[in-house]
Amino acid sequence: MNSGEPKDVSILIHYDEIGLKGKNRPLFIERLSKRIERAASLFCEAKVRKRTGRLILEASGLKNPGALIEALGKVFGVAYFARARSVPLDIESAAQTALEMIAPLKTKSFRVRTRKSFPATPVSTREWDRAIGAAIQARRHLPVDLDRPGLTVHVEVIPKEAWVYAEKIPGPGGLPTGSLGKAAALLSGGIDSPLAAWRVMKRGCEVVFIHFHGAPYLSRASAEKAKDLAGVLNGYQLGSRLYMVPFGNLQKEIVLATQPEYRVVLYRRFMTRIGERIAGFENARALVTGESLGQVASQTLQNLATIEDAVRMPILRPLIGMDKDEIIEGAKALGTFEISIEPDQDCCSLFVPKHPAIRSHAGHLRGLESRLPVREMIDRVIGETEIIDFEADGRTRDHSFAEIHPAEVEAATAPEA
Ligand code: ATP
Ligand code: MG
Repeated sequence: MNSGEPKDVSILIHYDEIGLKGKNRPLFIERLSKRIERAASLFCEAKVRKRTGRLILEASGLKNPGALIEALGKVFGVAYFARARSVPLDIESAAQTALEMIAPLKTKSFRVRTRKSFPATPVSTREWDRAIGAAIQARRHLPVDLDRPGLTVHVEVIPKEAWVYAEKIPGPGGLPTGSLGKAAALLSGGIDSPLAAWRVMKRGCEVVFIHFHGAPYLSRASAEKAKDLAGVLNGYQLGSRLYMVPFGNLQKEIVLATQPEYRVVLYRRFMTRIGERIAGFENARALVTGESLGQVASQTLQNLATIEDAVRMPILRPLIGMDKDEIIEGAKALGTFEISIEPDQDCCSLFVPKHPAIRSHAGHLRGLESRLPVREMIDRVIGETEIIDFEADGRTRDHSFAEIHPAEVEAATAPEA
């Protein structure tokens, strides 16, 4: 598909997994249709029709087909898609359209694959394969190669029409955004957490992002990175919110009251609590982190348990069993790796010893926290949090916490009864 004059095109879209969801199936399909329309409407006028086990996107006035393809490649729930044309149910029409569609394509060999959705349709797929193949051979003088063809012409027969296409493009798979509700991801400037957030997004969750930065003691470099990372992830959900939590002063309070070796775990307990509070404002039902077992001192089984002890909400850790190599590979494919390796200072490195505790016990940590005004510390930090909203096209808008959540600010500052 080349750029040029605005075009009207049809795109045939397949989903696999959501086809399996039994009673929820119509809901999933409806949601997927809306997600596709949302993605496509950034580039053209978009209408999605449901057609026996597949979706047809009618894109009119399309100026930049490449951008539309890229966007569809990020709609979770899409298994694969192709620019396609509808023809009447006869071999000649299908062959003629196939020839037109493959005319600009260079290839050394080809094959034809006809499929039908309903056994009752009066079409023999083998006969169609042969007849369409013969017509293409006669006109293009191309050899047929059934095992390793340079090109496959696909013909999908559904009631009353057939769809023809040649270039099949993989989608991201997964489940449509929002079909599994909402989660809140703790997004550092590192390599792991963006991939963790994306994994949960792929499984149908809308994800809200939360970043903690070390201001005023550290630069805002990590915050800038988190914003860029959220921008990449936003391409998959087309509308996102990023909470920027200033964590430095709270860390200083922890430092003044506790022993060095437990600081990282204490920071994490506070991050997780703040995450849970923010998740509550957003109706998110789980937290997501990029933790992977044994990767650093704070990620031993004991420490993970101690961190978890601070909250009631489930913590999802999609990378828990992955090696760093595998995580890096995933981050590269996602396009976040290059951003993540930019230098910054994560707030967790603030005031910490070289050898933090690898074993901790929740009871001990609770004891340390009993010297701290935990609730008050958290309220203060949340009040100072900034919010960045991302539009579908990537534009951002900054807000104060009070602008978005006035009721919560009032509740936090009200004198206790
Ligand atoms: P990452 O590459 O995601 O930063 P990491 O291997 O550096 O992970 P840690 O720094 O121990 O591991 O962080 C573990 C998890 O805690 C992160 O994956 C992230 O979910 C969360 N986290 C850590 N620092 C921050 C931060 N500054 N803001 C938000 N979340 C954070
Ligand atoms: Mg980190």
